[in-house]
Amino acid sequence: MSGNEQKYICEAFETNWIAPLGPNVDEFEKEFATYVGTEGAASLSSGTAAIHLALELIGIGRGDIVFCSTLTFVASANPILYLGAEPIFIDSEEETWNMSPIALTRALEEAQANGKLPKAVIVVNLYGQSAKFDELLEICNEFGVPIVEDAAESLGSLYKGKQSGTLGHFGIYSFNGNKIITTSGGGMLVSNDLNALDRSRFLSAQARDLASHYQHSTIGYNYRMSNILAGVGRAQLQVLNERVKARRQVFDRYAEALGSITGVHFMPELQGTFSNRWLTALTLDPKVIQITPFDLIKKLELENIEARPVWKPLHLQPLFEACKFYPHEERVIVSEKLFAEGLCLPSGSNLTIQQQDRIIIIIKRLLMTQLLQVEIG
Ligand SMILES: *Cc1c(COP(=O)(O)O)cnc(C)c1O
Repeated sequence: MSGNEQKYICEAFETNWIAPLGPNVDEFEKEFATYVGTEGAASLSSGTAAIHLALELIGIGRGDIVFCSTLTFVASANPILYLGAEPIFIDSEEETWNMSPIALTRALEEAQANGKLPKAVIVVNLYGQSAKFDELLEICNEFGVPIVEDAAESLGSLYKGKQSGTLGHFGIYSFNGNKIITTSGGGMLVSNDLNALDRSRFLSAQARDLASHYQHSTIGYNYRMSNILAGVGRAQLQVLNERVKARRQVFDRYAEALGSITGVHFMPELQGTFSNRWLTALTLDPKVIQITPFDLIKKLELENIEARPVWKPLHLQPLFEACKFYPHEERVIVSEKLFAEGLCLPSGSNLTIQQQDRIIIIIKRLLMTQLLQVEIG
C-alpha cells in the first residue's frame, strides 16, 4: 500500500458509502480512464469479470469461437467457457512472447475457409510486455474480428506511446493482490465505446430494468467493485508510475548481474514498446545450462526464495485438452519452449537491493556450477 488508501477508505466510512456504488467508484473510473487515455472505464470485482463482460458485450454465446493467446494465466480463457463458446489457442512468437501474428493469420484463414470466423480474439500482454499490436490489429481488421486486450499484467506499459490495454476494442486490467497495483481484488474494463461501458455497468449490477419494481429481462452478474476498494484503487493509481519504475529497476539489476552468463536470456522488450516489467522473466538455454528452470526453482526454494515457472500454455492444460491450437510455425511451438526453459524471478516493487543481491549471488552460484559441469563434460 502507498499510505493514502486510508484517506479514501475513511471518506467512504464517514459518508457511509459502503456499497458497490459511490463517489470513490465514480472517481476511480474517471481517474483511471484519464490515466490510460480512453473515453471511459468501468470498475469491476475482478479482471476475469472484465473479460467475461467484454465477451458478452461483443455478443459471444453458445457455439461461438474465440481465439486466445495460449501463453497466459487460465483466467484469460475461462470466460470463453462461461459463455459456452469454444476457445482456440494461438501460439507465441519469440520477440514478445505474445501472440504470433503468423499463427493468427493461419488460424483466421482456416476459420474463414471453414465458414466460421471467431467472434473475438483475446490478446494477452505477458508479464508487462505488449504484443505486436500493429500486426495483430491489421490482421484482425482485415477479417473484421474485434480484439479484447488482456492487460491484467501490463498496466502502465506502453505500445508505441499508447497505454497498454487501449489498443483493442476492449481492454481489461486486474487489481488482484499480485498485480502491479492492487485493490486486494478488482478489475477494470476500458473502451472508447461509452454505450458499451454503460451496458457493462447494467450487466454487472444484476441487469435490473428501469422500473420501480425488481424487473429483469436479461441475465445479470454481481460484478461491481465496492466503494471501499475503489478508494484503495484511487490511492494505488497515484503510485503506479513509481511502481513501474521500481519494477524496471529490479529487471535492470537482474539483467546486468546475470545477463552475461552464457545461456541466460532475459525476456525481450520489443522496440517501440515500454514494459512495466511486472515480472522479471528469463530463459535458460538447455544446450548450455544443465539445470532446468524447475530444478532451479526448487533449489531457490531451499534458500527461501520464491521463483516461478512461466505460465503453462493453455493448450497443454487438461481443461482445454480438446481445444484446437495453432503453433507459430509448423514444427516450432514457441510457447512450449518458453514454458520448458523459462522462469520468473522475485520482482516485487518493494524488493530491497540487499534482498536482490542475495538472490543474484545464489542464482549465480547455482548456474555457474552447472556451466562448469558442462565444460568439464
Ligand atoms: C491476473 C490475470 C487475470 C485475472 O485477473 P483477476 O483480477 O485475478 O480475475 C487475467 N489475465 C491475466 C493475464 C492475469 O495475469
